Amino acid sequence: MLDRYNAIRRAAREVTVGRVKIGGKHPIAVQSMTNTDTLDVGATLRQVQALEAAGCDVVRITAPSVEAAKTFAAIKEAGVHIPLVADIHFDYRTALECAAAGVDKIRINPGNIGDELRVRAVADACRAKNIPIRIGVNGGSLEKEILAKYGAPTAEALAESALYHASLLEKYDFCDIVLSVKSSDPLAMVGANKILAGACDYPIHIGVTEAGGGNAGLVKGAVGIGGSLLLGIGDTVRVSLTENPPEEVRAARDILSALDIDARPRLSIVACPTCGRTKIDLIPLVKAFEAAAQEANMMDKPLKVALMGCAVNGPGEAREADIGIAGGVHEALLFKKGEIVEKIREDDIIPRLIAEIQQM
Ligand code: SF4
Repeated sequence: MLDRYNAIRRAAREVTVGRVKIGGKHPIAVQSMTNTDTLDVGATLRQVQALEAAGCDVVRITAPSVEAAKTFAAIKEAGVHIPLVADIHFDYRTALECAAAGVDKIRINPGNIGDELRVRAVADACRAKNIPIRIGVNGGSLEKEILAKYGAPTAEALAESALYHASLLEKYDFCDIVLSVKSSDPLAMVGANKILAGACDYPIHIGVTEAGGGNAGLVKGAVGIGGSLLLGIGDTVRVSLTENPPEEVRAARDILSALDIDARPRLSIVACPTCGRTKIDLIPLVKAFEAAAQEANMMDKPLKVALMGCAVNGPGEAREADIGIAGGVHEALLFKKGEIVEKIREDDIIPRLIAEIQQM
């Protein structure tokens, strides 16, 4: 429930990225990035579509050269509506081409593109088409002077860099900005976000960069993103994982869902950890239920399902859920909306839950 987050959320101005609004009281937008060769239009288009299907709200695509602008135009022409962000490093002409190609946001650090005329040209091109700019500062690529001043990519150094880049755009009255300060150190990243939150009202894009893969990467990202969100800071997220990009989206949704602040409807599965009292083979049962729910395309049902291992603590949780079971020996008690429905056989648990959920 987004209201819970909005009650503690830092006030940020609203920025429009295609069909998605970032900041204000809007849902936290989930982002990811393609890892295809941008000039391979077909592969990039397929990955954008896969990301959208996984629940991504905004997709970033690297734009290594002026040529890349053609890919953005082709993806738009293919009828893809998910907002696209062009990731640009040093070449302001690429930014101008991408703006002309109709991208929905540009990620660029104005301090990296050369003289003021170039910064002004990018600001003017973006303003003309209502394209916001994300300034993205990473611990690994801080300005030499800032790094020398702080001695390390500290929270203060990250925040100072982001505000410096923003000031270059503000000179030209360009304030349609989103900021991000990322680090592979969650503590530095959360600290930097706190400084930014107090220093400006730009929406903040949060994420732990180079978090790695697998469970360790996911936990690292979740610690930083969750830590920031629990302080009410964060308007859009990216979980950086060394995985297939749609995995980043699933992880981001899981983080938002764990905090119960995901605006997208989602099936929430509550299951006990099992213990010496467990009367049913719960671990494979939960896995099988998740697979069956996915197969039945019901992961976007806004329902809570409880799968509990015994009749001691199980019924309490099962009663609180929309539907649930409390396991017994080769059987389970089925609960629906707080009431016991009946006892069912172990083999019937999954098909029965799926059938009941389909009707809810
Ligand atoms: S619900 Fe029952 S089986 Fe599950 S952990 Fe709690 S006491 Fe153990």
